[in-house]
Amino acid sequence: MSAGVDHPERERCVPTPAAPSTPTDGRRVRGRFAPSPTGLLHLGNAFTALVAWLQARQVGGDFVLRMEDVDRARSKPEYEARILEDLRWLGLDWDEGPDVGGPRGPYRQSERYPRYEAALARLAADGWLYPCYCSRADLASAASAPHGLASEGPAYPGWCRHLTPEEQRMRARRKTPALRFALPEGRGVAFADGIAGMRTFPPGAGGDFVVKRADGMVAYQLAVVVDDAQMGVTDVVRGWDLLDSTPRQLYLYEALGLRPPRFAHVPLLAAPDGSRLAKRDHAITLAGMRERGIRPETLVGWLAHLAGCTDRPEPVQPNDLMGRLDFTRIPRERISVPQRLWRLLLERA
Ligand SMILES: [Zn+2]
Repeated sequence: MSAGVDHPERERCVPTPAAPSTPTDGRRVRGRFAPSPTGLLHLGNAFTALVAWLQARQVGGDFVLRMEDVDRARSKPEYEARILEDLRWLGLDWDEGPDVGGPRGPYRQSERYPRYEAALARLAADGWLYPCYCSRADLASAASAPHGLASEGPAYPGWCRHLTPEEQRMRARRKTPALRFALPEGRGVAFADGIAGMRTFPPGAGGDFVVKRADGMVAYQLAVVVDDAQMGVTDVVRGWDLLDSTPRQLYLYEALGLRPPRFAHVPLLAAPDGSRLAKRDHAITLAGMRERGIRPETLVGWLAHLAGCTDRPEPVQPNDLMGRLDFTRIPRERISVPQRLWRLLLERA
């Protein structure tokens, strides 16, 4: 592992994915939905899943389902089973996934560790990584640093980036390091998001980020890039909370010599008063809705309406929505669930 990482020869622009309206250079569209089996799917997940599915299906593309169980301690097989059931109940289908297999599997991150290790080895060989010995307390003291990305916590100030090999040896005696990706200096990232529009991030935004934790767990940022690239995903449609992760992933795509997909970030749903949907509230989980006899077409009708596919929230099957999805009709901000839908969800709870 080299200390003092600098990449003057790499001071070129991160490739900006094509605008979402442009074709994928003749490649077949491949979309995906990648939930974490750490809980039940809720209303907001269903919204994202429906938009992602429709984006791929309405142009005749493939749809891949992947379990993001890289965090093995928090993931549970029973949640995976429930998620598959809930998605089928909603009327969605997929060509490849943990239950049906496929040519680009495995489709569980927990079974893909050798692939992540290979990517880490390549990044290390090319000098992109350095060991970080900082403790949690050290990192907390960086909380006021500028350029923090909202969903990614405070920016890491780069303390361990320029340690000498001798300093690294000294610290390694006391602590197993995490591995950080050294952001290229002096340039930011810009990309055209299919829903959020043009996004620009200044140089160093978010700071050097962890790609492998001290406990050996591979970071989400790395796993998601390796997976989407190896699974041939052309279009990543996911929740708005991951918008700020995208620059990091674009740096990884570039460093690994991989072609980035097009991105579209779906706005989050909120309660009618604008507050966050409480993940723990069973009433807004798909499982909870099923138990209370809410019909999937009723729910899909509402979600399609919130996504701008229909004028009225009338019951509809996902297959009847082909051609109706238009990213320009999706709001660019948090969507408050209408009172009528909220009452439907909660009244019978
Ligand atoms: Zn450090």
